[in-house]
Amino acid sequence: MAKDSPLQKRYVKLAKKVSTRTRTRIPSNLKRQICKGCNALLIPGKNATVRIKQKKLRIKCAECGKIQLIPLKQTQ
Ligand SMILES: [Zn+2]
Repeated sequence: MAKDSPLQKRYVKLAKKVSTRTRTRIPSNLKRQICKGCNALLIPGKNATVRIKQKKLRIKCAECGKIQLIPLKQTQ
């Protein structure tokens, strides 16, 4: 994991750069897989912990400790 992490960060940075330059958006399902703190690609069980707390998806990056909260949609 540590070996390929600089490369994945580079690609995440590149994808962000391209999206801002071409004014296109990174799909939300992909966006939640990217750490806002260190641009790492979050893989649950590898470098990310995923928990559900108070109807929110809580994704914690193991590399920088940044926590992302995603509200869960109610299905009723
Ligand atoms: Zn991070």
